[in-house]
Amino acid sequence: MKNLAPKLNHEQYEQNFSELTPPFSPNSAVAEANRCLYCYDSPCTKACPTHIDIPAFIKKISTGNLKGSAKTILESNWVALTCAKACPVEVLCEGACVYNDKGEKPIEIGRLQRYAIDYFFSEGMPKIFNQAPSNGKSIGVIGSGPAGLACAAEAALLGFDVTIYEAKKAPGGLNTWGIAPYKMRQADSLLEVELVKSFGVIIKTGTTIGTDISFDDILKKHDAVFIGIGLGKSTKLNIPGENLDGVCDAIEFIEEVKTERWQSVKVGRKVAVIGAGNTAIDAATEAKRLGADFVTIIYRRSKAEMPAYEFEYLLAKKDGVIFNFLTNPVKIIGNNHVEAIECVKMELKEADSRGKRKPYSIEGTEFVISIDMVIKAVGQNSKADFLSSVPGIRLNNGIIAVDTITYQTGNPKVFAGGDCINGGKEVVNAAYDGKRAAHGIKKFLLGEE
Ligand code: SF4
Repeated sequence: MKNLAPKLNHEQYEQNFSELTPPFSPNSAVAEANRCLYCYDSPCTKACPTHIDIPAFIKKISTGNLKGSAKTILESNWVALTCAKACPVEVLCEGACVYNDKGEKPIEIGRLQRYAIDYFFSEGMPKIFNQAPSNGKSIGVIGSGPAGLACAAEAALLGFDVTIYEAKKAPGGLNTWGIAPYKMRQADSLLEVELVKSFGVIIKTGTTIGTDISFDDILKKHDAVFIGIGLGKSTKLNIPGENLDGVCDAIEFIEEVKTERWQSVKVGRKVAVIGAGNTAIDAATEAKRLGADFVTIIYRRSKAEMPAYEFEYLLAKKDGVIFNFLTNPVKIIGNNHVEAIECVKMELKEADSRGKRKPYSIEGTEFVISIDMVIKAVGQNSKADFLSSVPGIRLNNGIIAVDTITYQTGNPKVFAGGDCINGGKEVVNAAYDGKRAAHGIKKFLLGEE
């Protein structure tokens, strides 16, 4: 498709994609750290899926021990910079801070974490971790997203030789390719990749399983394999017109935006985004910031059922995105290229087995919206189908089944974590899975916890 949105100048693009949350200055970081009550049994730590000792790292910031603070954070989370910038802190650590109960602003845990980790990287990643001597065993990691990086870093420190196989040209997975640039730039993710490499981990980029190397060959080559491949492309809409020029996948659109070649990203003047999850919101907001005049989100349920977080919704609203709730697309109209989308109004009736009320179309309420681009964001397909022939591995609707403690699949040599086992959660969940899986592998190969 052609780029149909009005072109902006470089400064406007940079401004539109500049960071939403600026870093703390040294004085403001210490002032914020001093507000922390260092709660016993801290609820913020419990709310963090990686259980970072939050009061401990904040205390170290208040006393000027930034290296120690970074160590406390990284001991729990190997992609702590990504999490500091992209975690939904409002519903995790900061949402659990006791200040909320007092009706006061919670401690800005995400920004403080960023402050400590920024220091660590700006100092050239000082050596703060002890690496066990080589134990002679090797691990193959498939995918260099947050789960793969976390597993690789932890396993390398435990004394394993680790090789990561990554299909893309640049490593980092979702952290590098899937987070909106106004939250985090590619360069941040690549710093975390460098940290993992500094432990001796080898990353083979441009290596697709099944094309460049078979899964069997990886299994033969290594003593254990960790799969952290995330999810695949967006689910099909299955409506007429889906193959027209101008219909694209939200994941591919977001990846293109992440290259930061703003002028060359193809975006419509009038864009419809189908779906209302966080990916849909990112795609809609990015389209608007690339210069689209009109962006609408089309979602078949109401705002109450919308999967996106409230703060993501508010950001999109602030950017001028129009929400069409209780609306379902029935046909994409056009002659080669998208010209409009026909929708129908919906109503919610009885709940399904998950307790979600089912949407039904209301006869005679069809209407047409004039658009020139459709972005599909109604969930993602599994990428794990190639594993269906691997002995022992069980897939439930494309999701890999694992032991919840060791992350071992039905094939004892194979472990998995991240979105490919949970169907799509946060980066921080993937980071936790990868780290725990490294210990699951250690138990399997060396018989130790
Ligand atoms: Fe500090 Fe809030 Fe955590 Fe208490 S809950 S330790 S005040 S960040």
